[in-house]
Amino acid sequence: MILSQTKHIVVIGGGFAGLHFIRGIAGSKPYTVTLVDKNNYNQFTPLVYQVATGFLEPSNISYPFRKFLRKRTNIRFHLGELVKVSPEEHLAYLSNATIQYDYLVLAFGSVSNFFGNDKLRQHSIAMKTLTDALGMRNTLLQSLEQACSIHDEGLRSKLLTVVIAGGGPTGVEIAGMLGEMRNTIIQRDYPELKDSMGGIYLVDGSKAVLSQMSLRSQKDAAERLEKLGVKILVNTFITSFDHEEVVLSNGVHIQTSNLVWAAGVTCLPVEGIPSVSYGKNGRLIVDRYNKVCDVDDIYAIGDNCLETSDAGFPNGHPQLAQPAIQQGKRLADNFVMMANGQPLKPFLYHDKGVMAVIGKNRAVVDLAKPRLHLNGVPALLVWLFIHINFLIAYDNKLKTLFNWIVAYLTGDQSLRVVIDSKHTDDR
Ligand SMILES: Cc1cc2nc3c(=O)[nH]c(=O)nc-3n(C[C@H](O)[C@H](O)[C@H](O)COP(=O)(O)OP(=O)(O)OC[C@H]3O[C@@H](n4cnc5c(N)ncnc54)[C@H](O)[C@@H]3O)c2cc1C
Repeated sequence: MILSQTKHIVVIGGGFAGLHFIRGIAGSKPYTVTLVDKNNYNQFTPLVYQVATGFLEPSNISYPFRKFLRKRTNIRFHLGELVKVSPEEHLAYLSNATIQYDYLVLAFGSVSNFFGNDKLRQHSIAMKTLTDALGMRNTLLQSLEQACSIHDEGLRSKLLTVVIAGGGPTGVEIAGMLGEMRNTIIQRDYPELKDSMGGIYLVDGSKAVLSQMSLRSQKDAAERLEKLGVKILVNTFITSFDHEEVVLSNGVHIQTSNLVWAAGVTCLPVEGIPSVSYGKNGRLIVDRYNKVCDVDDIYAIGDNCLETSDAGFPNGHPQLAQPAIQQGKRLADNFVMMANGQPLKPFLYHDKGVMAVIGKNRAVVDLAKPRLHLNGVPALLVWLFIHINFLIAYDNKLKTLFNWIVAYLTGDQSLRVVIDSKHTDDR
């Protein structure tokens, strides 16, 4: 079937999956596309923790959708949040409008998983978005300043101690960066705190940090973190936190006012999509063409979809940038092929591997093909190359890039300013 009429595709979410879908469908005549996102910018989550620790500015890892779409004339942007879908009427209900679609592409990603514990959600610092990163930056910097004027050792240590939940790449990267900062910047710029630094704890429920990586990466990462002064607690869960203490499943209580949450993600359900369409962890079950099961004309790509027919990934593809990017590209190509009456191609995931950086000058990389483990300087160079490549492609901010590299290599970042909208001058 060759499309004779223009069809309207509505894409919910301009993250890795949504944006690569948009790139692929741009300029394809038979389609007009509306990109809907609750933010007016795309964000590069792998470097969010560098904003949280003051190494990068928010604008360095974000990009406005309207600028991105400037020359992509068959695509419009709508700032809004998806709240409900009516598959029968082909309607997407947003927080501020209702849009008719011919095809709906759901690419709204995932949210932090607090495993139903509202107290943890309320009190901890989430680490998922740029807004979270700014929240974390403010909280940690304010804790440091407060600690400088407190003389009670117990209170001081509570303010300076940070517990990180989740020993995946995000938790490991935050722990490493905080360890690095404690040994460099805090020593240099906070002379009041030299003798009382508090602790950095990394807590994970599985038997090792980076449990999805190779044993060598797990071992290298743990050794490096311990050298940076991070205390690793595995086979342990956080059961509660109230801003005063973290309680662990082994009965240990850690006195702290700072709990950073990087302990996994889940997906929020969409009203109107039948419950049979959802699989494990709230992900939408899709076929090999990313079509959501049991509803017509709705597709899902990225973190929010679950495709289990890939023999290499029977529990679904990992919730990482690469599957999201590749699914976005494949689906866009399939829409173009559909318009030309060509047969569609099923999604095939090309695993490129996983990596994590620990502190500012160590990394671990597990390449998929060839199956290879890297650590030390080669791993750091691979990590730097991939992220620098991204920063250049994202927006041509060479000056930013230069500043970042200098700050990164010297460990002397200067973005340690508390910018809090609550503190306006209202005299
Ligand atoms: C801190 C952090 C570090 C990470 N580091 C890495 C890494 O190093 N390597 C790696 O491969 N992966 C990493 N990941 C995972 C990776 O970011 C995700 O797998 C990837 O972003 C998934 O892409 P996506 O397009 O599905 O979702 P996202 O990229 O999360 O995009 C979802 C988009 O949907 C929008 N949205 C959400 N809900 C709605 C709604 N209701 N209405 C409208 N818009 C909505 C959001 O604003 C967002 O723009 C990291 C994740 C985090 C949180």
